[in-house]
Amino acid sequence: MKFAVTSRGDTTSNGLKQNIKSYLTEFGLTLDEQEPDIVITVGGDGTLLQAFHDYNYRLEDTCFVGIHTGHLGFYADWMPEEVEKLVIHIAKTPFKVVEYPLLEVIVRYHDRVRGERYLALNECTVKSSEGTIVMDIEIKGEYFETFRGDGLCLSTPSGSTAYNKALGGAILHPSLDSIQLAEMASINNRVYRTVGSPLVLPQHHTCMLRPQSDTDFIITIDHLTMMHNNVKSIQCRVADEKVRFARFRPFPFWKRVRESFVE
Ligand code: NAP
Ligand code: MN
Repeated sequence: MKFAVTSRGDTTSNGLKQNIKSYLTEFGLTLDEQEPDIVITVGGDGTLLQAFHDYNYRLEDTCFVGIHTGHLGFYADWMPEEVEKLVIHIAKTPFKVVEYPLLEVIVRYHDRVRGERYLALNECTVKSSEGTIVMDIEIKGEYFETFRGDGLCLSTPSGSTAYNKALGGAILHPSLDSIQLAEMASINNRVYRTVGSPLVLPQHHTCMLRPQSDTDFIITIDHLTMMHNNVKSIQCRVADEKVRFARFRPFPFWKRVRESFVE
Protein backbone atom coordinates (compact mmCIF):
# COMPACT_ATOMS: atom_id res chain seq x y z
CA MET A 1 0.00 0.00 0.00
CA LYS A 2 1.19 3.50 -0.88
CA PHE A 3 0.69 6.39 1.50
CA ALA A 4 1.24 10.13 1.84
CA VAL A 5 1.20 12.31 4.96
CA THR A 6 0.36 16.02 5.01
CA SER A 7 0.76 18.48 7.86
CA ARG A 8 -0.65 21.88 8.86
CA GLY A 9 2.97 22.96 9.18
CA ASP A 10 3.23 23.66 12.91
CA THR A 11 5.89 21.91 14.98
CA THR A 12 3.53 19.38 16.59
CA SER A 13 1.94 18.37 13.30
CA ASN A 14 5.29 18.19 11.49
CA GLY A 15 6.69 15.98 14.27
CA LEU A 16 3.71 13.62 14.06
CA LYS A 17 4.01 13.55 10.28
CA GLN A 18 7.64 12.41 10.53
CA ASN A 19 6.73 9.72 13.09
CA ILE A 20 3.92 8.40 10.91
CA LYS A 21 6.21 8.29 7.88
CA SER A 22 8.88 6.28 9.66
CA TYR A 23 6.39 3.93 11.38
CA LEU A 24 4.61 3.12 8.12
CA THR A 25 7.85 2.68 6.21
CA GLU A 26 9.08 0.27 8.90
CA PHE A 27 5.83 -1.65 8.46
CA GLY A 28 6.69 -2.04 4.77
CA LEU A 29 4.38 0.56 3.25
CA THR A 30 5.62 2.82 0.47
CA LEU A 31 5.71 6.59 0.67
CA ASP A 32 4.24 7.90 -2.60
CA GLU A 33 3.18 11.52 -2.65
CA GLN A 34 1.92 11.37 -6.26
CA GLU A 35 -0.25 8.26 -6.16
CA PRO A 36 -1.11 7.39 -2.57
CA ASP A 37 -3.82 4.85 -1.70
CA ILE A 38 -4.23 6.57 1.66
CA VAL A 39 -3.55 10.17 2.65
CA ILE A 40 -3.06 10.87 6.34
CA THR A 41 -3.52 14.50 7.30
CA VAL A 42 -2.17 16.00 10.53
CA GLY A 43 -3.60 19.33 11.71
CA GLY A 44 -7.31 20.01 11.48
CA ASP A 45 -10.19 20.06 9.06
CA GLY A 46 -8.41 22.82 7.14
CA THR A 47 -5.50 20.44 6.56
CA LEU A 48 -7.89 17.74 5.36
CA LEU A 49 -9.64 20.20 3.02
CA GLN A 50 -6.24 21.16 1.59
CA ALA A 51 -5.31 17.48 1.06
CA PHE A 52 -8.67 16.83 -0.60
CA HIS A 53 -7.90 19.58 -3.14
CA ASP A 54 -4.28 18.48 -3.58
CA TYR A 55 -5.41 14.96 -4.48
CA ASN A 56 -8.69 15.77 -6.26
CA TYR A 57 -7.26 14.27 -9.47
CA ARG A 58 -7.40 10.78 -7.97
CA LEU A 59 -10.41 10.76 -5.64
CA GLU A 60 -11.45 7.32 -6.85
CA ASP A 61 -8.18 5.77 -5.75
CA THR A 62 -7.44 7.69 -2.56
CA CYS A 63 -8.80 7.42 0.98
CA PHE A 64 -8.38 10.14 3.56
CA VAL A 65 -7.92 9.91 7.29
CA GLY A 66 -7.24 12.88 9.57
CA ILE A 67 -5.57 13.51 12.91
CA HIS A 68 -6.36 16.73 14.74
CA THR A 69 -3.69 18.58 16.69
CA GLY A 70 -5.46 21.18 18.78
CA HIS A 71 -8.21 21.95 16.27
CA LEU A 72 -11.86 21.02 15.98
CA GLY A 73 -11.30 18.06 13.69
CA PHE A 74 -14.70 17.22 12.34
CA TYR A 75 -13.21 15.29 9.44
CA ALA A 76 -9.89 14.86 11.20
CA ASP A 77 -11.26 12.71 14.00
CA TRP A 78 -8.14 10.94 15.33
CA MET A 79 -6.23 12.31 18.30
CA PRO A 80 -2.41 12.60 18.45
CA GLU A 81 -2.30 10.06 21.34
CA GLU A 82 -3.86 7.48 19.05
CA VAL A 83 -1.26 7.72 16.29
CA GLU A 84 0.46 4.40 17.11
CA LYS A 85 -2.90 2.64 17.14
CA LEU A 86 -3.88 4.26 13.84
CA VAL A 87 -0.57 3.36 12.19
CA ILE A 88 -0.91 -0.30 13.20
CA HIS A 89 -4.48 -0.29 11.86
CA ILE A 90 -3.32 1.15 8.54
CA ALA A 91 -0.46 -1.32 8.21
CA LYS A 92 -2.16 -4.50 9.44
CA THR A 93 -5.90 -4.39 8.87
CA PRO A 94 -8.02 -3.88 5.79
CA PHE A 95 -10.06 -0.78 6.49
CA LYS A 96 -13.62 0.16 5.70
CA VAL A 97 -14.27 2.98 3.31
CA VAL A 98 -17.10 5.47 3.69
CA GLU A 99 -18.08 7.70 0.82
CA TYR A 100 -19.49 11.21 1.22
CA PRO A 101 -21.17 13.32 -1.46
CA LEU A 102 -19.43 16.31 -3.03
CA LEU A 103 -20.67 19.54 -4.58
CA GLU A 104 -19.94 20.22 -8.23
CA VAL A 105 -19.69 23.89 -9.22
CA ILE A 106 -19.39 25.10 -12.80
CA VAL A 107 -18.77 28.81 -13.31
CA ARG A 108 -19.51 30.08 -16.81
CA TYR A 109 -18.42 33.46 -18.21
CA HIS A 110 -19.67 35.96 -20.77
CA ASP A 111 -16.26 36.29 -22.42
CA ARG A 112 -15.15 32.65 -22.46
CA VAL A 113 -16.39 29.52 -24.18
CA ARG A 114 -15.28 27.14 -21.48
CA GLY A 115 -16.45 27.27 -17.90
CA GLU A 116 -14.44 26.35 -14.82
CA ARG A 117 -15.37 23.22 -12.87
CA TYR A 118 -14.74 22.79 -9.16
CA LEU A 119 -15.46 20.12 -6.55
CA ALA A 120 -16.12 21.19 -2.98
CA LEU A 121 -15.93 19.02 0.11
CA ASN A 122 -17.58 21.63 2.36
CA GLU A 123 -19.20 24.38 0.33
CA CYS A 124 -19.19 27.07 -2.31
CA THR A 125 -20.06 30.63 -1.34
CA VAL A 126 -20.83 33.56 -3.62
CA LYS A 127 -20.30 37.11 -2.39
CA SER A 128 -19.41 40.48 -3.78
CA SER A 129 -16.69 42.97 -2.91
CA GLU A 130 -19.12 45.75 -3.82
CA GLY A 131 -21.87 45.06 -1.28
CA THR A 132 -24.92 42.94 -1.90
CA ILE A 133 -25.31 40.41 -4.67
CA VAL A 134 -28.40 40.09 -6.85
CA MET A 135 -28.99 36.64 -8.28
CA ASP A 136 -31.82 34.91 -10.05
CA ILE A 137 -32.01 31.42 -8.60
CA GLU A 138 -33.19 28.61 -10.82
CA ILE A 139 -33.89 25.11 -9.57
CA LYS A 140 -34.05 22.23 -12.03
CA GLY A 141 -34.41 24.67 -14.91
CA GLU A 142 -37.26 26.69 -13.37
CA TYR A 143 -37.05 30.20 -11.98
CA PHE A 144 -37.37 30.07 -8.17
CA GLU A 145 -36.61 33.51 -6.75
CA THR A 146 -34.39 36.54 -6.99
CA PHE A 147 -31.97 36.83 -4.09
CA ARG A 148 -30.61 40.13 -2.80
CA GLY A 149 -28.28 40.05 0.14
CA ASP A 150 -24.76 39.36 1.38
CA GLY A 151 -24.32 36.06 -0.40
CA LEU A 152 -25.29 32.46 -0.92
CA CYS A 153 -23.83 29.24 0.41
CA LEU A 154 -24.20 25.84 -1.20
CA SER A 155 -22.92 23.08 1.00
CA THR A 156 -22.42 19.33 0.98
CA PRO A 157 -23.90 17.17 3.77
CA SER A 158 -20.50 16.81 5.47
CA GLY A 159 -19.95 20.53 4.99
CA SER A 160 -23.33 21.28 6.56
CA THR A 161 -21.65 21.50 9.98
CA ALA A 162 -19.24 24.18 8.73
CA TYR A 163 -20.20 27.59 7.26
CA ASN A 164 -23.75 26.38 6.51
CA LYS A 165 -24.37 25.79 10.20
CA ALA A 166 -23.42 29.37 11.05
CA LEU A 167 -26.03 30.52 8.51
CA GLY A 168 -28.79 28.60 10.23
CA GLY A 169 -28.71 25.70 7.80
CA ALA A 170 -29.65 22.18 8.86
CA ILE A 171 -27.12 19.48 9.60
CA LEU A 172 -27.52 16.75 6.99
CA HIS A 173 -26.35 13.16 7.27
CA PRO A 174 -23.75 12.39 4.58
CA SER A 175 -25.74 9.36 3.44
CA LEU A 176 -28.14 11.86 1.82
CA ASP A 177 -26.92 12.60 -1.71
CA SER A 178 -27.85 16.25 -1.62
CA ILE A 179 -26.74 19.86 -1.46
CA GLN A 180 -28.07 22.67 0.71
CA LEU A 181 -28.65 26.26 -0.32
CA ALA A 182 -28.46 28.77 2.55
CA GLU A 183 -28.89 32.53 2.43
CA MET A 184 -26.54 35.10 3.90
CA ALA A 185 -28.59 38.02 5.18
CA SER A 186 -31.22 38.27 2.47
CA ILE A 187 -33.03 41.57 2.06
CA ASN A 188 -36.72 40.91 2.62
CA ASN A 189 -39.28 43.67 2.31
CA ARG A 190 -42.18 44.81 0.12
CA VAL A 191 -39.93 44.96 -2.91
CA TYR A 192 -37.50 42.07 -2.45
CA ARG A 193 -38.61 38.62 -1.35
CA THR A 194 -36.91 35.26 -0.88
CA VAL A 195 -38.12 32.04 0.69
CA GLY A 196 -35.89 32.63 3.71
CA SER A 197 -35.43 28.97 4.64
CA PRO A 198 -32.46 26.82 3.64
CA LEU A 199 -33.32 24.44 0.79
CA VAL A 200 -32.09 20.87 0.52
CA LEU A 201 -31.83 19.65 -3.06
CA PRO A 202 -31.53 16.01 -4.09
CA GLN A 203 -29.33 14.61 -6.86
CA HIS A 204 -30.05 16.00 -10.33
CA HIS A 205 -31.86 19.07 -8.96
CA THR A 206 -29.37 21.54 -10.34
CA CYS A 207 -29.29 24.97 -8.74
CA MET A 208 -28.34 27.71 -11.21
CA LEU A 209 -27.38 31.19 -10.05
CA ARG A 210 -27.67 33.90 -12.71
CA PRO A 211 -26.40 37.40 -11.90
CA GLN A 212 -28.84 40.17 -12.74
CA SER A 213 -26.45 43.03 -13.44
CA ASP A 214 -23.13 42.95 -11.54
CA THR A 215 -21.04 40.08 -12.88
CA ASP A 216 -18.00 40.19 -10.59
CA PHE A 217 -18.07 37.85 -7.60
CA ILE A 218 -15.95 36.47 -4.83
CA ILE A 219 -16.44 32.73 -5.04
CA THR A 220 -15.08 30.44 -2.37
CA ILE A 221 -14.62 26.72 -2.73
CA ASP A 222 -13.90 25.35 0.75
CA HIS A 223 -10.87 27.28 2.06
CA LEU A 224 -10.03 28.74 -1.38
CA THR A 225 -11.15 32.27 -2.31
CA MET A 226 -11.16 33.51 -5.90
CA MET A 227 -12.36 36.62 -7.73
CA HIS A 228 -14.38 35.79 -10.85
CA ASN A 229 -15.20 38.46 -13.46
CA ASN A 230 -17.80 38.45 -16.23
CA VAL A 231 -19.76 35.64 -14.59
CA LYS A 232 -22.71 34.45 -16.63
CA SER A 233 -23.89 31.66 -14.33
CA ILE A 234 -22.87 29.46 -11.43
CA GLN A 235 -24.20 25.93 -11.65
CA CYS A 236 -24.30 23.76 -8.52
CA ARG A 237 -25.34 20.15 -8.12
CA VAL A 238 -24.46 16.92 -6.37
CA ALA A 239 -21.24 15.72 -8.03
CA ASP A 240 -20.86 12.30 -9.62
CA GLU A 241 -17.59 11.94 -7.70
CA LYS A 242 -17.42 11.13 -4.01
CA VAL A 243 -14.77 11.55 -1.35
CA ARG A 244 -13.55 8.42 0.43
CA PHE A 245 -12.62 8.26 4.08
CA ALA A 246 -10.78 5.33 5.63
CA ARG A 247 -12.61 4.09 8.73
CA PHE A 248 -10.82 1.94 11.28
CA ARG A 249 -13.50 2.05 13.97
CA PRO A 250 -17.12 3.02 14.12
CA PHE A 251 -17.52 6.74 14.76
CA PRO A 252 -21.05 7.57 13.65
CA PHE A 253 -21.75 10.99 12.16
CA TRP A 254 -24.24 12.01 14.88
CA LYS A 255 -21.70 11.12 17.54
CA ARG A 256 -19.17 13.37 15.81
CA VAL A 257 -21.79 16.14 15.66
CA ARG A 258 -22.53 15.72 19.36
CA GLU A 259 -18.89 15.67 20.39
CA SER A 260 -18.08 18.69 18.22
CA PHE A 261 -21.04 20.92 19.03
CA VAL A 262 -22.99 19.75 22.08
CA GLU A 263 -20.63 18.15 24.54
P1 NAP B 1 -10.96 28.04 9.43
O1 NAP B 1 -11.31 29.49 9.49
O2 NAP B 1 -9.87 27.50 10.29
O3 NAP B 1 -12.27 27.13 9.61
C1 NAP B 1 -13.30 27.49 10.42
C2 NAP B 1 -13.65 26.34 11.34
O4 NAP B 1 -14.46 25.40 10.64
C3 NAP B 1 -12.49 25.55 11.93
O5 NAP B 1 -12.76 25.34 13.28
C4 NAP B 1 -12.53 24.26 11.14
O6 NAP B 1 -11.97 23.17 11.84
C5 NAP B 1 -14.01 24.10 10.99
N1 NAP B 1 -14.47 23.19 9.94
C6 NAP B 1 -14.00 22.99 8.69
N2 NAP B 1 -14.76 22.10 8.03
C7 NAP B 1 -15.73 21.71 8.91
C8 NAP B 1 -16.81 20.80 8.82
N3 NAP B 1 -17.08 20.13 7.70
N4 NAP B 1 -17.62 20.65 9.91
C9 NAP B 1 -17.39 21.35 11.02
N5 NAP B 1 -16.40 22.22 11.17
C10 NAP B 1 -15.57 22.40 10.11
O7 NAP B 1 -10.65 27.69 7.89
P2 NAP B 1 -10.32 26.26 7.32
O8 NAP B 1 -9.87 25.35 8.41
O9 NAP B 1 -9.49 26.46 6.11
O10 NAP B 1 -11.78 25.76 6.85
C11 NAP B 1 -12.44 26.32 5.77
C12 NAP B 1 -13.88 26.31 6.13
O11 NAP B 1 -14.16 27.35 7.07
C13 NAP B 1 -14.80 26.61 4.99
O12 NAP B 1 -15.02 25.48 4.19
C14 NAP B 1 -16.04 27.08 5.73
O13 NAP B 1 -16.92 26.00 5.96
C15 NAP B 1 -15.54 27.53 7.07
N6 NAP B 1 -15.93 28.91 7.28
C16 NAP B 1 -16.86 29.16 8.23
C17 NAP B 1 -17.33 30.44 8.43
C18 NAP B 1 -18.38 30.66 9.48
O14 NAP B 1 -18.76 29.69 10.15
N7 NAP B 1 -18.89 31.86 9.63
C19 NAP B 1 -16.84 31.50 7.68
C20 NAP B 1 -15.88 31.23 6.70
C21 NAP B 1 -15.45 29.92 6.52
P3 NAP B 1 -10.38 23.02 12.11
O15 NAP B 1 -10.09 23.98 13.21
O16 NAP B 1 -10.21 21.59 12.54
O17 NAP B 1 -9.67 23.38 10.83
MN1 MN C 1 -8.77 25.55 10.23
